[in-house]
Amino acid sequence: MTDTVAIVVLTERGLAMARRIRSCLTGARIHGYSTRVSDVDVAFDDVGTELRRLFADGIDIVGVCAAGILMRTLAPVLADKREEPAVVAVAEDGSAVVPLLGGHRGANELGRRLGEVLGVPAAVTTAGDIRWQVALDDPPSGWVLANPHHCKSFMARLLAGEHCRLEGEAEWLECSGIEFRTDAVLSVRVTDAPDGGDEDTLVYHRRRFALGVGCERGVATSELADLVERTLAGAGLSSRSLAGVFSVDLKMDEPAVHALAEALGLPARFFGPPALEALTPRLANPSETVFREVGCHGVSEAAALAAAGERGTLRVAKTKSKRTTCAVAEAPSPIDAMQLGRARGVLTVVGLGPGTPAWRTPAAEAAIRDAAHLVGYRGYLDQVPASAGQVRHAHALGEETERVDRALALAAEGHPVALICSGDPGVYAMAALVFERLEAAAHPHWRQSEIVVLPGVSAMHGAAALAGAPLGHDFCAISLSDLLTPWAVIEQRLRAAADGDFVVALYNPASNRRRRGLARAIEILAAKRAPATPVVVARAVGRDDQSVTVTCLRDLDQASVDMMTVLIVGSTGTRVSGGYVYTPRGYGTKGESGVSA
Ligand code: SAH
Repeated sequence: MTDTVAIVVLTERGLAMARRIRSCLTGARIHGYSTRVSDVDVAFDDVGTELRRLFADGIDIVGVCAAGILMRTLAPVLADKREEPAVVAVAEDGSAVVPLLGGHRGANELGRRLGEVLGVPAAVTTAGDIRWQVALDDPPSGWVLANPHHCKSFMARLLAGEHCRLEGEAEWLECSGIEFRTDAVLSVRVTDAPDGGDEDTLVYHRRRFALGVGCERGVATSELADLVERTLAGAGLSSRSLAGVFSVDLKMDEPAVHALAEALGLPARFFGPPALEALTPRLANPSETVFREVGCHGVSEAAALAAAGERGTLRVAKTKSKRTTCAVAEAPSPIDAMQLGRARGVLTVVGLGPGTPAWRTPAAEAAIRDAAHLVGYRGYLDQVPASAGQVRHAHALGEETERVDRALALAAEGHPVALICSGDPGVYAMAALVFERLEAAAHPHWRQSEIVVLPGVSAMHGAAALAGAPLGHDFCAISLSDLLTPWAVIEQRLRAAADGDFVVALYNPASNRRRRGLARAIEILAAKRAPATPVVVARAVGRDDQSVTVTCLRDLDQASVDMMTVLIVGSTGTRVSGGYVYTPRGYGTKGESGVSA
């Protein structure tokens, strides 16, 4: 899901064109200007903010609008063309397609594809593409340019009429319009060996080698990285010639394997023991000991061979350090690692905030966008824009364990999964249950997924901000739901909070049937606080029907409190002034020492 394209549309007239474009780009979503366009995947309020955000997130943009709008909006944030995404403008009626930015980061390619669909030529303006039908700084997938920093001057010299040699084989270059001559000063070299090139020489590597690794549990990353570095150096191979790091799925949660892959900028992919065992006849070092422990006769050699495919061969047989092994297999052409074995699954536990998307963190939005599966209570999933190709698992209220188990099982299959909660996912929500299930459930393979918890704005924080700053000094949160906690425990905590003079946020304060708890809680707090102590009654915070009322312990209308409400009861220090509720921290009366904002 990560290669999503954002189709940005500003007018209702452009929407049909945006839909046509979406239908031919997998994973693309329509982002629409909320005041003018309805029924889009993602609605936004401010054109500039949305375009700059997408651009900063590295998401390719197809703007169904004037090229000038995209240029003016993005001009202030342009920085490094080697890092930035593609930007293509498409006329509302489909009569023009203009790759504007990132021509060699996919914009020309994207423009050409859209041009084909719409039956118009893409207005490609980058010089190399026109002259030679190739982009030297944007080689085909599976190829890597080792020295992109030399590319600009190299291309300028070619355009100025210098000739060029080809060292090695590259069909995409041989079929291009570049005229190669053996006596030229400039050269394009294709090699598997480490080679940084220079201003006269562009160096390309083919990602046709598979690195297989094995290790003991908990090994230091440096031990594995050192072995790999020595092995590659000994074999005369550049790490840029590698397509991926491969291992057995038992190592899916091994930090050293992932750290190595990350350091090499490569995907880590895993095979099950049966797939590896099938390669035993081709192993240089089959081992009975490994078979007894893992279920296949080799890990690093077998994983490398599995990735290199049937026509692959072992380039480097298993080498060892004390606790790690590695091997390298070679394929005749580039290897597409993403199609091989499985990735480690990631379960991201996400909080949507209390309501409005404006209080949702960009990290939460990105995790939702990148997930292949969304799991959550139906009411929360409804707050998340639909995305093509994403599977939604909507659950009824309750069913918490089912939701969490579903999310863990999907992640264990190797998918990126987002488990959606309201507010903050760690506050009376699913994150703790995820860890509880991991510990208790009889599925050890669930533990191999990566678990990421992203913070969100809790109802208490939303309510506090709307009222002023009632949480300015020590506070606590207490849930009045006795579904999972005995009432005696809740009451004991209320008394302790009253004694400690904490500001108290009351979650799950009352339901239609459960009203007694709230009355008792107020009674306990009122026993230690003045009747005029401020109370914030915040209902449906961040939603259309939001209401925030400031009252006091004596006047609280308990009938107005329901399950969509969070209450904030002040401490003895909490005040109301000019309509705002706040709990001073003491700056006004004390010196500054030891207090920081
Ligand atoms: N994880 C959530 C809490 C879920 S428990 C969070 O961090 O906010 C559910 C309780 O949270 C509700 O009974 C209510 O007390 C409070 N709550 C959740 N959303 C709310 C909202 N928009 N306005 C007021 N209270 C809310």
